Amino acid sequence: MNFETHLEFARQLDENDPLKSYRAQFIIPKINNKPSLYFCGNSLGLQPQKTRKYLENELDQWATYGVEGHFKGDLPWMYYHHFFSEKVAKVVGAKPSEVVVMNTLSTNLHLMMVSFYRPSATRYKIIMEGGAFPSDQYAMETQARFHGFDPADAIIEAKPRAGEECLRTEDILDLIEQHKDELALVMFGGVNYYTGQWFEMEKITKAGHAAGAQVGFDLAHAAGNVPVKLHDWNVDFAVWCSYKYMNSGPGGPGGVFVHERHGNNPNLPRFAGWWGHQEKDRFKMKKGFIPMEGAAGWQLSNAQIFSMAPHLSSLEIFDEVGIDALRKKSIQMTNYLDFLIEDQNKKGKTFNIITPKDSAQRGCQLSILTGENGKSLFEYISEKGVIADWREPNVIRLAPVPLYNSYEDVYQFVALLVEAEEALG
Ligand SMILES: *Cc1c(COP(=O)(O)O)cnc(C)c1O
Repeated sequence: MNFETHLEFARQLDENDPLKSYRAQFIIPKINNKPSLYFCGNSLGLQPQKTRKYLENELDQWATYGVEGHFKGDLPWMYYHHFFSEKVAKVVGAKPSEVVVMNTLSTNLHLMMVSFYRPSATRYKIIMEGGAFPSDQYAMETQARFHGFDPADAIIEAKPRAGEECLRTEDILDLIEQHKDELALVMFGGVNYYTGQWFEMEKITKAGHAAGAQVGFDLAHAAGNVPVKLHDWNVDFAVWCSYKYMNSGPGGPGGVFVHERHGNNPNLPRFAGWWGHQEKDRFKMKKGFIPMEGAAGWQLSNAQIFSMAPHLSSLEIFDEVGIDALRKKSIQMTNYLDFLIEDQNKKGKTFNIITPKDSAQRGCQLSILTGENGKSLFEYISEKGVIADWREPNVIRLAPVPLYNSYEDVYQFVALLVEAEEALG
């Protein structure tokens, strides 16, 4: 599509947007009594209108049935995690039995490492992306130590070339090949939280397997943002959170994928709890752990109903729209943002987009490297109604989200950015 620079064009795109009705299904925070320009869906997605009702239903269920709520009502708590499987599986390209919603992301990452990071004296190294989200760095570091290795030796970080911000796939694959005799695990983000780069997950998985390693992904910034195919790509395991692109509210539950070739192997080492024990005997309280089949066999505790209910409300929207329709709008809206910023650069501004230019290598987020006045620029636009994200030293991250952002949001953001730049000189 050929984009144009005027406001009418943005309004026309909104008018013709097949997903335009979804914006009204979300609550958009206000600034100065006007709906904000909310671009933080990559950090905390907005609240669906119907979430409150889903939570209230669970409070009612508790009030009505007490403990019997485990077995009564529309969504009995005993089976609660089942109500997510089909919908979550579609979001991450898995079979329903390969996914489970439980705990939170960092906890799940450790649980997966218990099963999939099984280092030996000679094969113990982990390859991860340099500059990964701190929680992932700490998890890898402490897992290596836990097994008696020095993280400085055990962890290999893939780094961009000098003068570049993003990783090149060929360099990642070379690094895997180079360490193939000592590699236990390749653990990568799906989309990097800082640059917004979507890694070539299928190629990385193939290379990791060829090197004899397990391959896992952290999809915190990928789930609900880009279409992934965890099953077909043969990924061993993956984890994600639901409060970013999946709008499940602060501290919302995590999700886990375990490929079926592992999920149905009861001998795979794991840390168990009663909720992962085979369901028919769960309340018999007997000795001897027998895991449920699939990812559900990694559950520890009974479902956290009050954080899972909002997730269900949001997943229903995803299910209705479908990830392909979301992706289609997402590509167009992010390309539009990219276009408007580059148009300003042609006119003499210097906003440097560090996210890959190719839509196949990014989701909806763009990360913009600002100049020296970046922080004041960010404060200026924040006061005028933008909610975006500032990362030291001078990057503004923003994510136009196809479910609730409009093209006019994008237009107004760029107009404010330019206004700020001109006001601050
Ligand atoms: C957001 C994010 C987390 C957060 O972890 P929690 O356990 O949910 O607090 C971890 N890793 C990555 C890559 C993230 O983007």
